[in-house]
Order: sequence, then C-alpha cells, then structure tokens
Amino acid sequence: MTLSLDARHRAMLAAMGVRVWMPAATPPTAAAAPVAQSVLLKALPAGLADMDWPALQQAAASCQACGLCGTRQRSMFAFGNPLATPARTDWLIITDPPSAEEESAGELFLHAEGELLQGMLQALGLSRQAASAHAHVTLAPVLKCRVPETRNPLPEELQPCRSYLELQVKLLKPQVIVAMGRWAVQSVLSATSVEAAALPLGKLRSQVHRFADTPLVVTYHPKSLLHAPKDKAKAWDDLCLAHSLTRRP
Ligand code: SF4
Repeated sequence: MTLSLDARHRAMLAAMGVRVWMPAATPPTAAAAPVAQSVLLKALPAGLADMDWPALQQAAASCQACGLCGTRQRSMFAFGNPLATPARTDWLIITDPPSAEEESAGELFLHAEGELLQGMLQALGLSRQAASAHAHVTLAPVLKCRVPETRNPLPEELQPCRSYLELQVKLLKPQVIVAMGRWAVQSVLSATSVEAAALPLGKLRSQVHRFADTPLVVTYHPKSLLHAPKDKAKAWDDLCLAHSLTRRP
C-alpha cells in the first residue's frame, strides 16, 4: 500500500520531528511547493551577520530554518536584559532548549532549578539585572524554539540555530560562556570538534574550551543537579573556574 502525503501532512510530521523519505525524483506539485518552502527548512534569514541585537532577535522570532518553527508559540532568544544601560554582559549562559512550560512562561529556569541557579549566581556576585552593580549574566537557550517533549533535538535543528548563538556572542562580547546541559554543550562544542562534542559531559568539565573566540566552561544543567545532588559540588567548581576567567572580582 502506498501512503500518499501532501505538503501539509509532511509539514505536520516535520513539526513533530518525524522525517519522511521522499524520492529525489519526485517533483513538488505546484500547489505543494509554497507550503513546503514556508514551513520546512528555509535558509537562515539573509544578512544575519550584519544585524544588531534587536534585528537578530526579530529574525529569530520569524526564522523558518528548521521544522521547530511550525510549533513555535514564542521565540526564546535571550534573557537578562542585555540591552539595558549599562549594556554589558560579563557571563553568557547557554542552556538546553526551552521546555513547553518555559516557552509558555516566557522565562528560563523555572521553579527549583531557577532558585538553585539564582543562588549559585548570587554567590558568585552575578546578577541578571543589568542595572545592578554586580557582574551581569545573560541567558540564551541553544535552540530559540521549543522541541517537542517526546524527543531530543536533532542535528539539523542545532546546527542552524548555532548561528544565532555565534552572533549573540559577537554582539554581547561576554568575558566567559558557560554551557549548561547536554544539548547546549554538544552544540557549542560541535562548532570546533565533533569528537569532543560526542564525549559525556563529565569528561568535558574542568577545562577551558572556546566558542566564537570566547572562553567556554561546560557544566550540568540545574535540572539534572536536582536529580543528582552529588553533582552540585562539581557544578560549583565549574562556575568557579568560569569566574576565574573573568576580570571582575
Ligand atoms: S530553532 Fe532556531 S533554526 Fe530552528 S526555526 Fe527556531 S530560530 Fe530558526
């Protein structure tokens, strides 16, 4: 039996993370082509490299470079008010893709994991309030759009979205980057070493990597620390290593 899928069905499946093989020789129908191009795998927006922060944020909000755009309720570009005065970011924390709850709330690190992260940042003299006299931290998810909770992020989603991260680093010029969580670590390390990116997170800790010409430290996501409290001390060591790389006391 032959299963016949039109462009709308393919778009729905792609949004759910289901890839359907299609013979290369099958030409798109005149009616199907506009839908396929509007929902599936467009190129990244033109001129990204020359955009300022607001333009880049707007580009991410309307991006269609991977199938996650089909289920996006809102873009999760960055948090921590990096445009406020004085505009500066001492730390950039890159974290795993936003959950459905985070997307709904429009905020990262909710509930106990947020309290845990906040406590660690405060202990290091870091603040998400740009107006604070403390060193400032900006948070950015590795994917700007939510991934369905039934599956992991795909390489074809992480790879294009890494372009936004690279440009965020270029614009923010943080002194140090901390990648928190498996997918955040895998994506940023893939930019320079596929072999390193494939290693377990525990083997990548306690060393200084680089991403977008900036020192990078990797550590556990606060959510995983809630499930493995024994790793809290390791995460604290990682944050202290990152702190040692900054100029601020
Ligand atoms: S996840 Fe990233 S690459 Fe994919 S549509 Fe969203 S902004 Fe674009």
